[in-house]
Amino acid sequence: MPIRGRFAPSPSGRLHIGNMLSSLLAWLDVRSLGGEMLFRLEDLDPERSWEEYAELMAGDLRWLGLDWDCGWPMDAGCRQGRRTGEYQAAFERLEGMGLVYDCWCSRSERLAASAPHPGEERPSGCRCRSLGEGEREALRRRGRRAAAKVAVPDREIAVHDGHYGEYRENLARSCGDFIIRRSDGVFAYQLAVSVDDAAMGVTRVVRARDLLSSAPRQKWLIETLGGAAPEYCHAPLLISPTGRKLSKREGDLNMAALRERYTPEGLCGVLAFLCGLTDRPESVPARELVPHFSWGKVRREDIILPDWV
Ligand code: GLU
Repeated sequence: MPIRGRFAPSPSGRLHIGNMLSSLLAWLDVRSLGGEMLFRLEDLDPERSWEEYAELMAGDLRWLGLDWDCGWPMDAGCRQGRRTGEYQAAFERLEGMGLVYDCWCSRSERLAASAPHPGEERPSGCRCRSLGEGEREALRRRGRRAAAKVAVPDREIAVHDGHYGEYRENLARSCGDFIIRRSDGVFAYQLAVSVDDAAMGVTRVVRARDLLSSAPRQKWLIETLGGAAPEYCHAPLLISPTGRKLSKREGDLNMAALRERYTPEGLCGVLAFLCGLTDRPESVPARELVPHFSWGKVRREDIILPDWV
């Protein structure tokens, strides 16, 4: 299978410096292996996706010197908003395996179920999993739309992360059954990303470490649907000096502001220095980092943004 990595941004806001670091590492990973890069637009959630951000994100990646060989916008269909048919087909296959059930829990019930006390094991499913047909029918008649959950196995799924090493989770005990289609009918991120990575021949997934805990769920979904899971390599998180995770709402650290303060080589030099690829924050074009790239040089601990950035 040819080596293929991907950029998979959600057009919910302008990319920020943390997104740029993960994108740079995803690109260096694939280019240093001689593989190809795909751009997939993750506009799954119609309420949180804006076309203007899609264009701006692509422009910001190109500005930093990162390119891709296939996917959006050359292939206009390489976006999650146009792939509902594929997610529906995967959903039906999981249903056919008897793994899907309707869930009527409210948001607060779900939050309570996902926050067990320390040391407590979480039950795999919610009470909706064991409802009888009569009770289900009564709930349906009340007109409330159900979300759909997938029933996970009580077994450990091990992911060998190329940067953080082995990461294992017993799906039933640690994350429990999870939603694959929301009550408004929108397919959930975990299902869409798994279907897409398998269908698009992605072999390398590089993204920020906050998604490491999703990797076992995605690997299990892909394999359950008969595909081959990619290799995962998670990147350190950039965090604010107060310990907050950066968000797309971070005004002064988003690409609109950064492009005013830096040249592409200047920002690339800062990113390479912050993650440990270089000794000094000196300007460097992204392509010059390719021959020297290795995950062994990249820091594992979260990176606190210094105030000079
Ligand atoms: N679309 C997700 C985001 O923008 C990334 C998903 C992934 O890399 O798996 O945060």
